[in-house]
Amino acid sequence: KAKQSGRSQHCAFEPTLDAEIRRRAELEREMRDAMARDAFVPHYQAIVDLKQGSVVGYELLARWQRPGGEEIGPELFIPIAEECGLIDELMLRLLRRACRETRDWNAAIAINVSPTQLKDPWFSQKVLAVLTRERFPPPRLTIEITENALIVDADRARQTIASLRNQGIQLALDDFGTGYSSLQHLQMLPFDRLKIDRSFVTAMERDPEALRLVHAIITLANTLGLPVVAEGIESASTARTLVGLGCAMGQGFHFGYPMSRDDVEAHAARVQPA
Ligand code: C2E
Ligand code: MG
Ligand code: MG
Ligand code: MG
Repeated sequence: KAKQSGRSQHCAFEPTLDAEIRRRAELEREMRDAMARDAFVPHYQAIVDLKQGSVVGYELLARWQRPGGEEIGPELFIPIAEECGLIDELMLRLLRRACRETRDWNAAIAINVSPTQLKDPWFSQKVLAVLTRERFPPPRLTIEITENALIVDADRARQTIASLRNQGIQLALDDFGTGYSSLQHLQMLPFDRLKIDRSFVTAMERDPEALRLVHAIITLANTLGLPVVAEGIESASTARTLVGLGCAMGQGFHFGYPMSRDDVEAHAARVQPA
């Protein structure tokens, strides 16, 4: 009896897996096509000084303009780009476009980098080549990395980080508190800021555990003299609480959604201080 149901489960599983593989292959093909048509575009989300209510910079978040199709977000297409070797081209194209689109803003721009990219010994040269060609000052660029990047190949990642730093590029540790958070990373690597993962921030109003964690991370960062950014701020009261806890900067739907260049310019970020 058990054996029989086991077999029927097996049969039910295969077509699903097959469909999944076909869908990935389909998406991969579509992505290469989209890349050639420049259908991946940067959106920008404001990072604000919580007390002043002023914009201190923008985070670039990749969007796939897929007219007619269902919306596919970066959580889905970034891993595919990583797997099929498109991530470098995607990231460098977005960077180039961002340099051009935001040239007049005179603002700091943060870009997300995939863990695998840090393994590439030429990575920092590739980034610098774009900045030089577009005449974008390296200190205005921040590279956001997650801690998972640091465990893939720690030595290699450390070298890449050092050479980015030597060029004047800034570094942020993204999604802090998830993954393999290690105090050693904070001590050994020259981060310019730390970003608290949005899962804790969105939960802190109703979950005292999350609130305590956020408090602890802010205290840790402040003790180390590391500027801290809370992501995922969805309400004024969360922003106020964060200021009370000593958090200097924040980001979230309360202050602004990720928007295209034109929309950012139209909205010209009128941000209220917390
Ligand atoms: P992330 O770097 O941690 O980016 C923050 C994510 O939180 C973004 O999702 C943003 O839209 C979302 N977010 C911002 N404020 C709020 C809020 O108040 N509430 C909620 N619920 N969400 C908020 P998005 O754009 O879907 O990106 C997801 C992840 O995909 C990013 O997480 C980043 O890891 C990755 N990603 C996005 N663009 C790129 C890229 O160009 N390259 C790489 N390698 N990864 C990217
Ligand atoms: Mg990020
Ligand atoms: Mg994050
Ligand atoms: Mg994330």
